[in-house]
Amino acid sequence: SSFEQLGLPKPINDGLLAMNFKKPSKIQERALPLMLSNPPRNMIAQSQSGTGKTAAFVLTALSRVDLSKPTQPQALILAPSRELARQIQMVVQTIGQFCENLIVEAAIPGNISRTAGVKSSVVVGTPGTVMDLVRRRQFDVSQLKLLIIDEADNMLDQQGMGEQCVRVKSMLPPTIQILLFSATFPEKVMQYAERYAPNANQMKL
Ligand code: AMP
Repeated sequence: SSFEQLGLPKPINDGLLAMNFKKPSKIQERALPLMLSNPPRNMIAQSQSGTGKTAAFVLTALSRVDLSKPTQPQALILAPSRELARQIQMVVQTIGQFCENLIVEAAIPGNISRTAGVKSSVVVGTPGTVMDLVRRRQFDVSQLKLLIIDEADNMLDQQGMGEQCVRVKSMLPPTIQILLFSATFPEKVMQYAERYAPNANQMKL
């Protein structure tokens, strides 16, 4: 099997080639048809790091954004730490290096200009900063089509962050596609998933 079978746009395929990703990992092979499906479907995935989950959700985000509106936020990726948000931003930039007009910003403390606000199609952020930016109207979430939650167990376990994840979700368009990744499924993650990712396909990856 190959990435070609997924029918990804050429610039994304070129990005995968540049990274030397020759064929999908096992989890990519199983989850990508669902993640990329139209109409979009929600997914709750149990997956560890090292499986290729980051590339899977990054290429889903890249294939969902309309780059004729390069500064309009369309995909949001939430991560539990600034460092992880930065790492994911780099993966978006690398796989997306041939996507013309792609802008990806990190919504982490101190990084978004107060005057300009968020001006990118893909946003990778920590929940508290994302929540503050939306409240201050520095992040227009009205056109977001895709929400990705990485390391949900880690995030919902941290003081205050679970609440922030709930608040952020409540400010987004109700029909947004949600893809949730978690290594483990404690009660908090189950509850969040059941409440905010209705009718999600559950996958053990
Ligand atoms: P992750 O599970 O997201 O932490 O990714 C684990 C590692 O696998 C990263 O170093 C990726 O660059 C790499 N990787 C992801 N997808 C592929 C692929 N299809 N082929 C080869 N390496 C990959």
